Amino acid sequence: MYLNRNKNTTSWGNYPQVDALSQFIEREKDVNSLDMTKKLIARGLGRSYGDSALSKSIVNLEKNDYFISFSNEGILECTAGVSLESIISVFSTRGWFLPVTPGTKYVTVGGAIASDVHGKNHHADGVFSDHVESFRIFTGEEILECSKSVNPDLFYATCGGMGLTGIILTVTLRLLKIHSSYIIQSQTRASNFEDLMRLFEGSESEKYTVAWIDCLSKGEHLGRGVMISGEHATYDDLLGTKMQENPLKLCKSFPAKIPFNFPSFALCSESVYLFNQLYFNKPSSELDRALTTFDPFFYPLDFVSDWNKIYGARGFVQYQFVVPMKSSKKAIQEILERVSDKGIASFLAVLKLFGKESEGYLSFPMRGYTLALDFPIMEGLFEFLDELDKIVLDANGRLYLTKDARMSADTFHKSYKNVNKFKSVVQKYGCDRFFKSLQAKRLGL
Ligand SMILES: Cc1cc2nc3c(=O)[nH]c(=O)nc-3n(C[C@H](O)[C@H](O)[C@H](O)COP(=O)(O)OP(=O)(O)OC[C@H]3O[C@@H](n4cnc5c(N)ncnc54)[C@H](O)[C@@H]3O)c2cc1C
Repeated sequence: MYLNRNKNTTSWGNYPQVDALSQFIEREKDVNSLDMTKKLIARGLGRSYGDSALSKSIVNLEKNDYFISFSNEGILECTAGVSLESIISVFSTRGWFLPVTPGTKYVTVGGAIASDVHGKNHHADGVFSDHVESFRIFTGEEILECSKSVNPDLFYATCGGMGLTGIILTVTLRLLKIHSSYIIQSQTRASNFEDLMRLFEGSESEKYTVAWIDCLSKGEHLGRGVMISGEHATYDDLLGTKMQENPLKLCKSFPAKIPFNFPSFALCSESVYLFNQLYFNKPSSELDRALTTFDPFFYPLDFVSDWNKIYGARGFVQYQFVVPMKSSKKAIQEILERVSDKGIASFLAVLKLFGKESEGYLSFPMRGYTLALDFPIMEGLFEFLDELDKIVLDANGRLYLTKDARMSADTFHKSYKNVNKFKSVVQKYGCDRFFKSLQAKRLGL
């Protein structure tokens, strides 16, 4: 185990920053050498946006990355610091893929469980933890096995529990059988938000769906966007193409780098407006049903590593909320109107349709629509987001903890219905004596 002090430790949004001492775990036995006198929080690859993986004392697991076993039925056992990128690199060429993947592959398996991440297939396949057979977790005093049948309360508190139940050490996960490393993708333009909802609801039989929204559009075009759907290509889909020679070939893209923080004016509403015009009006030929590879389909943002620097040194927040089906249209249109009227540029605006409510006590998804917007930190932003929170609360929705850096304890407690259940499990296993993040303090968790 080794230590590292960094005065400006941050996560993906570069906000907030904390002077943190990190203890790096490489092997399971290293937990015995942890300094447990200060409250700790586990950290994977720091791809959460806000303060959930931040504290003055961090336990970093990115070096704890080993595969332990793999069965022909696709059951993988690995340590919690293994990244989704490593799993794809090793197993996709053998015909296995992740059952659920977020929009970046640079996250650890432990981080994916702690945030209970979702992908473009939530409506069909649920959250990451729906595919986890079991994990082992260090609660501060002991290492416990957890699954839906062994210590189930700790299992459901840990899935989506943002590291507050302890340090996940090893994970057994069910991978998805695939017959090619290609995706058949289709794209459809929608002229406003209602149109977009119609497209989503007519595409629930598709495995993957997601939409990009032009959040600067107004009036009858409010919420216009492009819906992207896809399926894993079968061998037959590749017949007659060069791809049939090696259907499981992994086509990797190598990310470009941004060497420094952009000045804050670089991402003004004018540049976002220009990008949105070009994206929405891309040639129809680009929308046609076509074969593509994993990286552009699942991980377009990974093409530029450190793209978070485009928001400048003050950082940014990602505002991701979910609202139930019946209040989705009104709430999302109202939020889009507020954003558009305010003229704040959100470079990214991603809409997904969720399936059933997740079982994790603090898991984010519920049946309904989720929208993610990025906002550079600027004066008045947090007050503006407080106003959006009210719309989300009135619609019986909630905000995603792994993106959050500023929600109030009141908003959190009003919107997450199983907080008391979560707290009682954390007390039962004694994890609250050892683990706390900046976010947990802010939210009174
Ligand atoms: C470009 C981009 C796209 C994204 N797209 C999506 C998306 O589509 N869907 C989605 O759901 N999320 C998405 N995310 C968020 C990301 O998937 C989650 O924040 C994920 O948890 C990050 O994993 P990490 O390993 O970097 O964890 P960190 O950011 O390091 O930590 C996140 C949380 O997990 C806890 N944690 C980490 N490791 C452990 C462990 N071993 N034991 C216990 N707790 C642990 C931390 O304490 C913290 O609370 C995206 C993020 C980015 C940057």
